[in-house]
Amino acid sequence: MSGLTLGGGHGVVSRAYGLTCDSLTQATIVTADGKQLTANATDHKDLFWALRGAGNGNFGVVTELRFRTHPAPQAVSAYMTWPWSKAAAVVKAWQEWGPDQPDEIWSSCHLACAPGGTPTISVAAFSLGTYGELQNAVDRLADRIGSPARSVSLKRRSYEESMEMYAGCSSFSTDAKCHLPGSTPGRTPTGALGRETYAARSDFFDRSISAAGIQTLLTHISSVRGGAGSIQLTALGGAINRVSPTATAFVHRRSRMLAQYLASWKAGTSGTTAQSWLTTTHQAMSRHASGAAYQNYTDPTLTNWRKAYYGAAASRLTTVKRHYDPTGFFNFPQAL
Ligand SMILES: Cc1cc2nc3c(=O)[nH]c(=O)nc-3n(C[C@H](O)[C@H](O)[C@H](O)COP(=O)(O)OP(=O)(O)OC[C@H]3O[C@@H](n4cnc5c(N)ncnc54)[C@H](O)[C@@H]3O)c2cc1C
Repeated sequence: MSGLTLGGGHGVVSRAYGLTCDSLTQATIVTADGKQLTANATDHKDLFWALRGAGNGNFGVVTELRFRTHPAPQAVSAYMTWPWSKAAAVVKAWQEWGPDQPDEIWSSCHLACAPGGTPTISVAAFSLGTYGELQNAVDRLADRIGSPARSVSLKRRSYEESMEMYAGCSSFSTDAKCHLPGSTPGRTPTGALGRETYAARSDFFDRSISAAGIQTLLTHISSVRGGAGSIQLTALGGAINRVSPTATAFVHRRSRMLAQYLASWKAGTSGTTAQSWLTTTHQAMSRHASGAAYQNYTDPTLTNWRKAYYGAAASRLTTVKRHYDPTGFFNFPQAL
């Protein structure tokens, strides 16, 4: 919860309820001088502003987070695939459809490929609304694409069951299996989840990707090397973008989409080839993207990280940092 919240936090209900940090009402923090402070809308307002987007490792150790809560009703999820030959049409139609849906409908478009394999294209959607509303919405997406999906699954589940599905745990008989195996905190002896070995980069897009940009995406995903590659485009907008870019230190409030590029490789191998594919792909997309990156998808290769993560908030954040951590006690390669 802590890292997710302090860097923003987006998920399938963000278009309905805002980012995780938008539901934060108060944080308790221990600063470098050993003092415990409470930051909220009236006390240490500047720190409260900074903790919502730039709080990870910069100002102190956050020991308590308080949140406004929201209903977690039954939800509907959809998963659709199209033949790869339709990929350009799917990306083009989805990017105009996803960010403009009613707040309760979240979606993402996913391109993936294993080395030597045929790339795949899919769209996942999640809605806090009714089954019929999501069905109508995905039908309209297929109309825009000009081709019905090759496979469609649409299912109503409880909120908890939906989260278990996204965590890859829906086939497990007990919650204890939905962990890594082990006996240290956070693990369970019967844990059945494994770790993956991967690296990731991100881009925000403030407008739809041009036809040339879509072609770049398709070309690069078709030439994955050294492991598996994927690109996930997530629809933003809704409640996320109704917050002013200056209201919190998460400034990316005008973006329509967030892209995450991922390269994974076999554990124990160097992953050099897969990572070079990742670098080439990210570089090729940079001319089509906004120049901003998600601070919670930490990217050690970013040289302009201050601007990419924090945009116009960077100088105000430096002032807050000097005030609460004047000696720079909390330090790491991309610390403020
Ligand atoms: C598999 C996977 C899926 C993800 N999916 C999403 C997603 O759907 N949406 C999304 O928004 N992000 C996602 N992320 C990114 C995620 O938000 C970040 O990795 C986040 O930092 C994780 O939080 P954590 O508490 O585990 O932090 P850690 O990884 O433990 O720490 C990350 C940074 O936060 C600092 N930090 C952590 N806790 C505190 C604290 N209490 N006080 C001060 N500083 C602190 C650490 O010092 C460090 O700098 C995903 C990451 C992974 C690995």
